Amino acid sequence: EAPKLSESDPTAVALGYKMDATKVDKTKYAKYAAGQTCSNCQFYQGKPTDAFAPCPMFGGKQVDGHGWCSAYNKKA
Ligand code: SF4
Repeated sequence: EAPKLSESDPTAVALGYKMDATKVDKTKYAKYAAGQTCSNCQFYQGKPTDAFAPCPMFGGKQVDGHGWCSAYNKKA
């Protein structure tokens, strides 16, 4: 099982990743909209109900389903 992504990981910092999407810096990331989470992002490599799942944006490390980063793209 891949390690969990830390918010202090340099790539996580660069993309504004937070394990709790509501903690995202909304000033810096104006594109963030309430309700957007890793679990409904097209890059989330798990079921929407999985607590954590790998994300290819972070080399396959596991991200929190409740999280968010600026590479967010809504799952079709
Ligand atoms: Fe979460 Fe999507 Fe960012 Fe990956 S790309 S960390 S799944 S918001």
